[in-house]
Amino acid sequence: MAGKLIHEVIPVGILRCNCSILGDPATGEAIVVDPGDEIERILEIIRRHGLKVRTIVSTHTHIDHVGGLAGLHRATGAPVLIHEADLELYKNLDTQAQWLGVPTPAMMRIRDFVKEDDTLRWGGYEARVLHTPGHTQGSISLVVDASAVPPGGELPNVAADSVVAARLLAGDTLFHGSIGRTDLPGGSYPQILSSIREKLLTLPDELVVYPGHGDITTIGSEREFNPFLR
Ligand SMILES: [Zn+2]
Ligand SMILES: [Zn+2]
Repeated sequence: MAGKLIHEVIPVGILRCNCSILGDPATGEAIVVDPGDEIERILEIIRRHGLKVRTIVSTHTHIDHVGGLAGLHRATGAPVLIHEADLELYKNLDTQAQWLGVPTPAMMRIRDFVKEDDTLRWGGYEARVLHTPGHTQGSISLVVDASAVPPGGELPNVAADSVVAARLLAGDTLFHGSIGRTDLPGGSYPQILSSIREKLLTLPDELVVYPGHGDITTIGSEREFNPFLR
């Protein structure tokens, strides 16, 4: 049975990318999503909860979401995952740094990739990968929930915890009252709209959404109020 999900969200770097640390207190296993910068702050949270990072994943490879990948990988030894369609964008991190006028962060060779419908597991939790291109070609969203295959293989626990644990990490695809920009290389406005309509708005209304920047929201609230989705 999974312990109550640890989910710490900290805005990192000059663009204040929402980095998520998700942990299962029952097993101490965790994943980190979008470590864009400020590795020391992320590590401090990991240490405070006594977590062991199993996986590091970025929702896409814009600099504000990947700037800390190499550093966090070095500090934790955890594998780093992105969608392969964003690998070229990652290799152009120096160009992205020039756009922002910041130094190029440490880089690493990324060899492991996620694709649509893959499942990432930590302790009694899992995240299902949705490929949601449009902001970039390799943009993904993650549906987090209690695992159908709990550690030790006991019967699935479908108690209150799993209901409360369900949430969507939307990267820069869907924001509170807005959507991701599509004017950067690899962006497509029609594509981001169909990704959101077909893959995100089909999720339950009550699902809490953690965007890549800014405030949390819900699927139902965005379906009703988001001016880009009318
Ligand atoms: Zn982005
Ligand atoms: Zn961003």
